[in-house]
Amino acid sequence: MELDLSWILIGLPLAFGLGWVASRLDLRQLRMANRQAPRAYFKGLNYLLNEQQDQAIDAFIEAVQNDPDTSELHFALGNLFRRRGEYDRAVRVHEHLLARADLSAADRQRAQHGLALDFLKAGLLDRAEDALRKLEGTTYEGQARLARLAIYERSREWPQAAQVAELLERSGEANFSVRQAHYRCEQAREAFAQGDTDRALALLQQTVQDIPQAPRARILLGQLLLTRQQARESLEVLRPLFERHDPSAPLAAASLVKAALACGQSSSARTLLEAFYSRQASLDVLEALVSLNPPHSSEARQPFLQHLQQHPSLLAASRWLAAAPAQEAVPPTVQKALDTAARPLARYRCAACGFEAKEHFWHCPGCQAWDSYPARRVEEL
Ligand SMILES: [Zn+2]
Repeated sequence: MELDLSWILIGLPLAFGLGWVASRLDLRQLRMANRQAPRAYFKGLNYLLNEQQDQAIDAFIEAVQNDPDTSELHFALGNLFRRRGEYDRAVRVHEHLLARADLSAADRQRAQHGLALDFLKAGLLDRAEDALRKLEGTTYEGQARLARLAIYERSREWPQAAQVAELLERSGEANFSVRQAHYRCEQAREAFAQGDTDRALALLQQTVQDIPQAPRARILLGQLLLTRQQARESLEVLRPLFERHDPSAPLAAASLVKAALACGQSSSARTLLEAFYSRQASLDVLEALVSLNPPHSSEARQPFLQHLQQHPSLLAASRWLAAAPAQEAVPPTVQKALDTAARPLARYRCAACGFEAKEHFWHCPGCQAWDSYPARRVEEL
């Protein structure tokens, strides 16, 4: 009994002592870890500020190893990987974050958004679309819808693009009515290319009815009606573009003349074109006016000369020479040299990125902007 009591008397302080030592050791370790994590973090930040991304990544990886529960460090790492083009590593970081059960709802959305951006940048559009869809109902919803819209436009999935544009319009993001008209025009063009002119016609007629202010559908419908020998209908569809002085009207000038000549309405077309030309001295409208006259007659090319009195233009001058009667024609070599010199001036240029093209684009192939090509030749800009 005495022996047991003495053991307890010795054992108790010893147990206390050992416990105290152990707790001090734990505390010291914790303090060291805490001290190491911020140090590595600040080291990484310092490298970032010096634009040394390789070293920054090493420092952040070290910090993450010391403190695997820190979400901010993971976000920083994920962004860094993406910016450096290391998309698989960025995806792994964001997927790791999403797999964590302790992540707050806000951080989960942020990780999902980061993951969508990784896929977008990597060009994995299917996976990006999937990740963006998961952001519906979150604070990233507007951005995610705009990104999905860009994906559908890039992959020419027009019905899906129309759906998302409608959602965006309903949430008050912007007015997408002209864009919606473009989506339908693109579908009509595809239908026409596949030989389904009835579907193309139906789509364009519906668009002109629903969105009358969108000029492209009107121009395409006018051209389509011409191919179906419906000249009178074509003229009536194109007429409002000139009556309301739509900036895109010059693109329809040649079709208007064809339709008017085919249905014996050339004086009506002349009135429309002259009224438009008096407000905007467009070269295309001028050429359309000239083409209403009988070719190679002495008065046929007169409008070019009148235009040149007001606007010095190499395009108008070369067209005037080319339209000369046989006895006044310049040698073909001279005409060819002039045409070659004037050709770059006849291009269209994107106002957003400066991309130049022989034909007019409604959707810039360079910068993907819509309606960025003015209906004016480079010489008229
Ligand atoms: Zn462009």
